Amino acid sequence: MAKNNSRTIVVAGNWKMYKTIDEALQFMDQLIPLVADTRAKVYVAVPFTAIHPTAAKAKGTSISVGAQNMNDASEGAFTGEIAALMLKEAGAHFVLLGHSERRQIFKESDAFINRKVKRALAEGIQPVVCVGETLEEREANRTEEVLARQLRESLEGISSAEFSQLVLAYEPVWAIGTGRTATPAQAQEAHAFCRRCITELWNPEVADSLSILYGGSVKPDNAKKLMEQEDIDGVLVGGASLDAHAFASIVKAQPTS
Ligand code: PEP
Repeated sequence: MAKNNSRTIVVAGNWKMYKTIDEALQFMDQLIPLVADTRAKVYVAVPFTAIHPTAAKAKGTSISVGAQNMNDASEGAFTGEIAALMLKEAGAHFVLLGHSERRQIFKESDAFINRKVKRALAEGIQPVVCVGETLEEREANRTEEVLARQLRESLEGISSAEFSQLVLAYEPVWAIGTGRTATPAQAQEAHAFCRRCITELWNPEVADSLSILYGGSVKPDNAKKLMEQEDIDGVLVGGASLDAHAFASIVKAQPTS
């Protein structure tokens, strides 16, 4: 089947716990001219402290600034947590939810992620929802079972209409920060599976219009082949998004048609 070119292409960077405000602003000064004429939407998920100044710098450009996490409550006695409304006020356009580092290190469950997705949608911040299997799960042939569960439980109760506000990212845990990328064929297979799950759980229209990003050791030299795959609508980039030139090369690696 031909690729659905009406889906939004997103190239998203995830800075994790890197970059001070000064470093973030220097990065933006470099990145803005490099991606000025791109067809893709360019996202950067920055540390909380850098959201406001970075979003101010990105105003009027093709770059959207977002956060890497948030709490599911609207406000409350949750020391150290941050609410959707606070992120939005600071200038965040989107928020990563269910990143494997949150799932694994901070033991976030699909149910918790689901509540966050609902909160983000209610407050008008775009959720970028991450799913992906561990190496152990892949080697035990459990990839599809794990992806199906994560999709079903983390997106439970999301309406068809709300899907137009949401982006999905498939990030095999074994490929994150390891330098070991899924091959384009492996990634395509998992993306096609996710789209089939969405078709079954929701409907074909929702599945066909949903942008699904691939993440896991994406670099300037492998991004193009990944983004050429039928069901891959962009990439989520960790390490290589810390360097403006490397990140811009990935943005420019998007297929032209
Ligand atoms: C990520 O953090 O989402 C990620 C994919 O990291 P890396 O590109 O470094 O593997």
